[in-house]
Amino acid sequence: MTSPRRYQHAATAGAVLLAAAAITATAHGLYLPACGFAFGVLILTEAALREAGHVRRRQLEAEWARRRALGETPPPLTPCCVLGHASNDQAHSENCTGEHSLMRFLDRIEQQRDSA
Ligand SMILES: [Zn+2]
Repeated sequence: MTSPRRYQHAATAGAVLLAAAAITATAHGLYLPACGFAFGVLILTEAALREAGHVRRRQLEAEWARRRALGETPPPLTPCCVLGHASNDQAHSENCTGEHSLMRFLDRIEQQRDSA
């Protein structure tokens, strides 16, 4: 699986190349191809920014999981998980950092089992 960081770098490189192509096309009076290149720059820039967001989210989740593994109780991330955000809190992923995580659910079941 390709990492979001690699997609981010590829989209950034593509946007830079298309920007150079757009500038060159404009300098030679080729305005229609320049518009196409500029549109490509917009698409690839959006893709690079989206992938940068994925990279930041992964870093935050890794830091949250590291703190949790060390015994700390870090506050949940906002949003708690990507699935929870996309489903308006109707579903949550197994890596959810909020109250709906699989780990917390299993902890509650074990507590109920131990107390019974
Ligand atoms: Zn969640």
